[in-house]
Amino acid sequence: MAGTGVRVDLLSDTVTVPTAGMRRAMADAEVGDDVFGEDPTVRALEEEIAALLGHEAGLFCPTGSLANQLGLRLHTGPGREVIADSLAHILRAELGAAATFSGITSRTWTSVAGRADPATVLGLMLPGADAYQVSTALIALENTHNFAGGTIQPYAALAAIREGSRPHGVAMHLDGARLWNAHVATGVSMAAYGSMVDTVSVCLSKGLGAPVGSVLVGSRAAMAEARVWRKRYGAGMRQVGILAAAGRYAVTHHLDRLADDHARARRFAEAAAEVAPGIVTVADVETNIVLLDVGVIGRAAAEVVAGFAEHGVRCYAMAPTKVRLVWHLDVDDAGTDIAIAAARATLFTP
Ligand SMILES: *Cc1c(COP(=O)(O)O)cnc(C)c1O
Repeated sequence: MAGTGVRVDLLSDTVTVPTAGMRRAMADAEVGDDVFGEDPTVRALEEEIAALLGHEAGLFCPTGSLANQLGLRLHTGPGREVIADSLAHILRAELGAAATFSGITSRTWTSVAGRADPATVLGLMLPGADAYQVSTALIALENTHNFAGGTIQPYAALAAIREGSRPHGVAMHLDGARLWNAHVATGVSMAAYGSMVDTVSVCLSKGLGAPVGSVLVGSRAAMAEARVWRKRYGAGMRQVGILAAAGRYAVTHHLDRLADDHARARRFAEAAAEVAPGIVTVADVETNIVLLDVGVIGRAAAEVVAGFAEHGVRCYAMAPTKVRLVWHLDVDDAGTDIAIAAARATLFTP
């Protein structure tokens, strides 16, 4: 937990530290040189995550950004286009990587609470435009949607987008950094989500609590190509089974407990909505993220974040009037109570 005086860290679900069991699994991991494909723990992780998502093969990556950018790269190329939500992590939080490394252009749709509307997405798509306009090569979706507050893409919408884009040869990539949360919240299997797209990235380092790591999955041929690009980007790793072991441990031991994070986030949101009506739509708190619209009570995000900090609660000013709080395995019921007390003190307007 970073910083002095932080009692409850809701800055992000990346702030978790490895548990004792996870550290033991890391220490005991069998390793080899993964650039030569000889790390048994990495191979096991890649196979397990691919199977879980119903795809042929996987590729271990140090970050979710790299896994996403490899995914984008596979389906597009210079002068071709990806379309995505205007608040998509791939476009807003990966620092222009798609343009910088792959020469990809992008257009965006806007959404209500991050949920992609099939008619809007398919209406924006422009495949086969040839010599006059940029052709859409890829639709990228995010599930759950981080900057929209951890909202879930309804399965029927994913299916409609898949059905409407596939005949046009437009590929789909899913930024599934928190697909685990969508799966636990809805009961829709990881494989069912995986079946809707050509490639998926999932993070092990968010709510699952691994210190590092993401996995990209797709066809065997696509992952072979992604492996070449990963090395080209300088991310060929050696005895990295020590990290893959943390990821395998996380999936085995920390997946089901995401439901606790969801319940705690919801309980916090209900309390916040009670003290400051309209500040959060409780029904939109579907997973582990709570997004407070503090503009509703005429406050600035930075001021509210400072108010929470006075009570030992760290959270994130995501936009001038938006505060994000994220639940994870290092925050329990008692921590949630502290956050609720901080909300009552900070958000109350007499
Ligand atoms: C965290 C996150 C990623 C990956 O981030 P890294 O810090 O590069 O691991 C990708 N997409 C979303 C939606 C995320 O929240």
